[in-house]
Amino acid sequence: MLKKELLNLQYKEIELLRLKTKKKEIESEKEKLEKESQKINNNIESARIKLDEKKKYLQELNNFIKYKQERIAELKKQKESARNREEFKKILRAIAKNEDDIIKTKQQITGIETEVEALKDAYLKVKEQFEFKLNELKEKINELEKEANTYEKKINKVLFEIEEIKSSLPEEELKKFEQMKEKFNGLVFADISTGACEGCGITYSSAEYRELLSKLKAGESKCPYCGRFIYCKK
Ligand SMILES: [Zn+2]
Repeated sequence: MLKKELLNLQYKEIELLRLKTKKKEIESEKEKLEKESQKINNNIESARIKLDEKKKYLQELNNFIKYKQERIAELKKQKESARNREEFKKILRAIAKNEDDIIKTKQQITGIETEVEALKDAYLKVKEQFEFKLNELKEKINELEKEANTYEKKINKVLFEIEEIKSSLPEEELKKFEQMKEKFNGLVFADISTGACEGCGITYSSAEYRELLSKLKAGESKCPYCGRFIYCKK
């Protein structure tokens, strides 16, 4: 014999399993969307980094020109106070070399500026292209988060109810129930309202079924085939 309250405990434990599975599904879906979102963000970020690096290089080239211009100004001053013709010529050559460097760098800058523009376009394009998708993902993730929280609350409620039932039952009875759960794959009480045993799947003959129903007592009657306690949901 088993106490009828244990059927309620079985309901609650099955409900708990269902809720936990559902919550896990929601969380794994959320994780999937978060990964997708992260991937998009990485793409946008990588376009931004490429643009920034190119801009930085452009800045370096401009700094180089500035440095060269300062150097020329310096050399021009030195030229005024050249001690001899030899030194004068040497300074002139140095100035020409620096001017040459500036011209080459300016040519390089023109190319880099074009590249910066192209990278800026690419960055804005990828950002714009995925902005909608990202917002959509964000919304879905928030929804799933809320849903998971709702399930968390439901789970806590059922856990509380399970504890309540357990604390109202004698230790021995619970121990017996746990042992039977082990033996019967978690299903100690089997519903027979369909004419078949929910536990072992056997369909009863109509005479047998009538007999079982007429004598049915929750916590006492058992399935003649698997030995589970039977009850009728209806
Ligand atoms: Zn059975």
